[in-house]
Amino acid sequence: MNATPANKIEPAEIVGHFINNRDVADDNRPAPITNPATGKTTRHVAMASKATVESAIAAAQDAFPGWRNTPPAKRARIMFRFKQLLEEHAEEIAAAITDEHGKVLDDAMGEFGRGVEVVDYACGIPEMLKGEFSRNVGPGIDSWSDFQPLGVVAGITPFNFPAMVPMWMYPMAIACGNTFVLKPSEKDPTAPMLAARLLKEAGLPDGVFNVVNGDKEAVDTLLGDERVQAISFVGSTAVAEYIYNTGTSNGKRVQALGGAKNHAIVMPDADIDNAVNALMGAAFGSCGERCMAISVAVCVGDEVADSVVSKLKAQIANLKVGTGTDSATHMGPLITRAHHDKVRGYVDLGVEEGATLAVDGRDLVVDGFEDGFFLGPCLFDNVTQAMRIYQEEIFGPVLCVVRAESEEQAMQLINDHEYGNGTCIFTRDGEAARYFADNIQVGMVGINVPLPVPVAYHSFGGWKRSLFGDLFAYGPDSVRFYTRRKTITQRWPSGGVREKAQFSFPGRQ
Ligand code: NAD
Repeated sequence: MNATPANKIEPAEIVGHFINNRDVADDNRPAPITNPATGKTTRHVAMASKATVESAIAAAQDAFPGWRNTPPAKRARIMFRFKQLLEEHAEEIAAAITDEHGKVLDDAMGEFGRGVEVVDYACGIPEMLKGEFSRNVGPGIDSWSDFQPLGVVAGITPFNFPAMVPMWMYPMAIACGNTFVLKPSEKDPTAPMLAARLLKEAGLPDGVFNVVNGDKEAVDTLLGDERVQAISFVGSTAVAEYIYNTGTSNGKRVQALGGAKNHAIVMPDADIDNAVNALMGAAFGSCGERCMAISVAVCVGDEVADSVVSKLKAQIANLKVGTGTDSATHMGPLITRAHHDKVRGYVDLGVEEGATLAVDGRDLVVDGFEDGFFLGPCLFDNVTQAMRIYQEEIFGPVLCVVRAESEEQAMQLINDHEYGNGTCIFTRDGEAARYFADNIQVGMVGINVPLPVPVAYHSFGGWKRSLFGDLFAYGPDSVRFYTRRKTITQRWPSGGVREKAQFSFPGRQ
């Protein structure tokens, strides 16, 4: 439904789409974009109709034959130029992230930088697409494997890393020779729109990269369209599972990364001060809205737990909550009023469930920003496995301390949890760390590293209900995800030799 005349929003104030290297204006069902620090609507974003998404898919489909046949070295040159342009526009993109997401500017710059690293990696695509070759697999017979692009690929991304998570996907997908339709989060769509314009400036041909803004209607169109060969999704587990089930039953290749509940074990021999510093950043950085945020600290032994809780309380007292544009701020607001209320509801629930609320951030007010979606850092002690605040992803500045008696018991908690995205152990004991890394049922493991987010030339993904599909995001797995193997066996009969018909299966020769 379009905006009614009474609340008509001028099209210039509505973020549209980017299709075929052109900005596409649209005023279909405009949804507000809010600055989380002020609580004010700054702009609107159009929700693409089915027809709009289909026009983006058509543009990508038309662009595919030419792009597929563009030499990988030429595709890499566009990536080099894109990387350079991204770096020139870093401040503008980081400012857009802070404006729409609320995270602190330094943190926005950090996520942006990690996204650019994937573009760096994509610049090496000719090396990665070299394929495999075996000469003389039989007399006069050679065999090789090619890695061919799939065609039109779609990406659907969450609000919490509006620049980085899309960059986990499209640089590698298009470097591999695919064309791409991105559906970013409707809460903070500006960073990917800026990147799309820079890709055009870098020389990317029309239709190779397209952005459609929207909601379920846009996503369902991508899921149902047979021209879309593969889907990369990052978001909450409920939606990830829906995307995976629907996409695969429609014959698509799907990787769907979901939610998390990341535990850190603090062993009795750990450097407790270092561990507490690490926990502070990992739990409260970006207001806890990271899929790799540490939301549970499992302390082995009451002595460790008492010390960790008291040191955390002291540090939280000095944590500055404020706007992302204030350079003194450590933690900004949550993304929306609705999410703020949901997270706050979990804090109320934790109290009802009997956990000890050691630090209560519920009444925090940031002077001058009373309408912002701020919530102070919260710390629960004596959290147990049966509590919902332990089981469910809260996705806010809430750290739960669970007390365990041994490393085995702490690890069992993690292995029993439905999520398996990231985890970490703080210890000085190499044997304990090695045992942990070897036996923990989690996809990304840190040893004295609280946020073990793999670098661009490794791959990112979780286990259990944190990832549906077989392959991780970016890194070597992305070449496998965004290409299809083809194995060719050839013989060129020479010297006029005629072969007799053979009726047995070709065996060792
Ligand atoms: P979300 O699942 O609400 O939204 C993700 C995307 O799906 C958005 O583009 C949204 O428009 C779309 N979407 C939402 N509901 C839909 C529906 N019913 N049908 C079809 N599409 C729908 O997630 P979010 O709130 O934007 O992001 C936070 C979540 O993302 C957290 O759970 C977090 O753990 C997760 N996340 C995971 C990773 C990871 O790597 N595993 C990384 C970042 C974020």
